[in-house]
Amino acid sequence: RDAIRLRSVTRTYGASDGAVTALNDLSLSFSVGTFTAVMGPSGSGKSTLLQCAAGLDRPTSGSVLLGETNLTTLNETQLTLLRRERIGFVFQSFNLLPALTAEQNVALPLRLAGRRTGRSQIQDALAQVGLAGRATHRPGEMSGGQQQRVAIARALITQPEVLFADEPTGALDSTTSRDVLTMLRTMVDEQRQTIVMVTHDPVAASYADRVVFLADGHLNGELKSPTAAAVA
Ligand code: ADP
Ligand code: ADP
Repeated sequence: RDAIRLRSVTRTYGASDGAVTALNDLSLSFSVGTFTAVMGPSGSGKSTLLQCAAGLDRPTSGSVLLGETNLTTLNETQLTLLRRERIGFVFQSFNLLPALTAEQNVALPLRLAGRRTGRSQIQDALAQVGLAGRATHRPGEMSGGQQQRVAIARALITQPEVLFADEPTGALDSTTSRDVLTMLRTMVDEQRQTIVMVTHDPVAASYADRVVFLADGHLNGELKSPTAAAVA
C-alpha cells in the first residue's frame, strides 16, 4: 500500500520565457512503513519534491495522492487541515518556538488541530525521544540534538501518515546525527511510520530502506538497502 504517490508531477517556476523546471514529469511512490532517502545535487528538485508531496506547494501539473486523497483537488483550507492532521515535517533548523518549553512545543500541533492535549500523551512522546527529563526546558537550554528530538516528537504527536524530513541532521555533528537517525529508524521498524527524508549525507541515507536520486527534476536511479559506501 502506498502512503503517498506522485503521478507525473511537474513544477515550473517563473514566466514561460525564463521558466525553471524544478520537477519534470516525476512519478514516485512511498510505501507505508518504509524509510526513503531523497538525494541529488543542489537544484535537482529535492525541496520541491518534499514541498509538493507534503502539500506545502502545488504541482503545475500531475497529482499527489496521500492515501486515497488527491491533494491537487483540495482548496487551501482543506490543504491546511490535511497538513495539520495527516503530515509531519522536520527541518534542518528545528523550527521550535523559542518561548515555549519542550512539552508546549510538542503539544502545539494538537492545539492547532483542536484536539485535547493529555499531559501523559506529551510525556510519552518526549520519553519516546529520550527527553522525559527535559519537558520544561526551552529550546535555548537544549543541545541541537535534543532540539531536533523535540521537533521529531512534535512532528509525530498527531500520528501523521507520513513524516517528511528536510536535511534533519544537516545541523548536527555525526554522533548526534546517528542518535537522531536511529530514532527515526526505530519509528519505522516499531510503528510502521512512513518517512521521506532529503539528505546530502551518505551515512544518513544508509539508515533508509531505499534511496532515490534526483537529477534535473527527474528520477535518476534508486538503491534498495543502501550502504553509505554505495551511496557516496
Ligand atoms: P534542491 O532542493 O535539490 O536544491 P530545489 O527544489 O530547491 O532543489 O530547486 C530546484 C530548482 O527549482 C532550482 O533550479 C531552484 O533554483 C528552482 N526553484 C526552487 N524554488 C523556487 C522558487 N520558489 N522560485 C524559483 N525557482 C525555484
Ligand atoms: P536546499 O536545496 O538546501 O533545500 P535551496 O537554497 O535550494 O536549499 O532552497 C531553499 C528554499 O528556497 C526552497 O524552499 C526553495 O523552494 C526556495 N528556492 C530555491 N531556489 C529559489 C529561487 N531561485 N528563487 C526563489 N526561491 C528559491
